[in-house]
Amino acid sequence: MSQTLPPPENIPLSDILPDRPILLMGAGPVPIPHAVAQANGVVINHLGSAMDAVVARVKEMARYVFQTKSEHVLGISGPASAGMEMAITSVLWPGRKVLILKNGTFSNRFAEMAEAIGAEVDILEHDQHRPFTLEEVKQALSENAYDVVTMAQGETSCGIENIHLEEITKYLKKENILSIVDAVCTLSCLPFYMDEWGIDIAITGGQKGLSSIPGVSLIAFSEHAWNTIENRKTKIPQWVLNPLKATRFWHHKEYHYTAPVPGILALHEALRLITIETLEKRYQRHYKSSKAIQLGLEAMGLELYIPEEYRLKTVIAISLPETIDSYKLRQYMIDQHRVDISGAFGLPIVRIGQMGDQCLEVNSLRTLYAFGSACSHLGLKVKISEGMVALENYLKTSRIRRF
Ligand SMILES: *Cc1c(COP(=O)(O)O)cnc(C)c1O
Repeated sequence: MSQTLPPPENIPLSDILPDRPILLMGAGPVPIPHAVAQANGVVINHLGSAMDAVVARVKEMARYVFQTKSEHVLGISGPASAGMEMAITSVLWPGRKVLILKNGTFSNRFAEMAEAIGAEVDILEHDQHRPFTLEEVKQALSENAYDVVTMAQGETSCGIENIHLEEITKYLKKENILSIVDAVCTLSCLPFYMDEWGIDIAITGGQKGLSSIPGVSLIAFSEHAWNTIENRKTKIPQWVLNPLKATRFWHHKEYHYTAPVPGILALHEALRLITIETLEKRYQRHYKSSKAIQLGLEAMGLELYIPEEYRLKTVIAISLPETIDSYKLRQYMIDQHRVDISGAFGLPIVRIGQMGDQCLEVNSLRTLYAFGSACSHLGLKVKISEGMVALENYLKTSRIRRF
């Protein structure tokens, strides 16, 4: 007789989770609207007429958010990184050459993925935190021939916006070089026009700008990118993340793998709320909310890590003096104010997110106050009231949604 191992101790989830929700104001995941949370609690058959209708709507709304007319839009069961991996492994293979515009951890992830499948990888990087110019990209392209160039619209790890994105991708289109753009922390928050800007592959996750749950992502391919994939001579090394196989579910109502049903329903609701708000108003809301927080932080006497000209609006990096322990600061905010912000990957910063439902007045007021109070608790001289006044004054002149 085999002996079964004893079951582990029973610990209910309620013993692990905080007894009151904590406001997620970091670099993602972000708070989700009620309609999204409710949809996430529903399971239906992943094949059948109801799901077919949902999938059709998700694709249609995703096209609006990406601003593309391309047919080749797919959902992915997986994090945004799975979308990045689908992009890289479908248009690169041994012998193909890619240029990576590296601004930090996330834009460099493309390089790790491309190296792993044996593509030739060149990385363009700076010693300072700033975006690439078209001139720098042109220079790199004049020195070597590339099949693909990758970049992130917003580099979440340090808070840089690639303000020359449009110029760069338009140029790449003219040169017939494929562009892959990570719009994970920016889509639906900052202007993004896939077709007009000539972007070949665009990727986003659920848990950032879209204000949906983590685990279901979106990807869109241009005709040029799709032709490249259909005509490649070698097999795509992926099975789950193979875009041609994924069309079975996303375009032909057939089985590929069991679709993440609740996540797709949640994404449907998140996208629907964006279509109601409209992209223009959503861009404005993000701009105003982020600007208000930035002004508030500066009025408190804090320094922002990235110059205003190319400061990412969706993830704001705040410089911390060496004497301040970022972990303690964030823990104090959680314990005293139930507000959670992000640390950093080895940089002397903390980061406040401004994506989706993070950009509501109530959340901005609470977060800025919590941040000021934590700084003060740790001995940093900050002018909390001045900061709050600056934030409120800006919000007053440019109303954004309160709830
Ligand atoms: C969060 C993020 C990613 C990774 O998303 P995951 O869902 O964690 O895989 C990639 N790129 C950017 C710009 C991000 O902000």
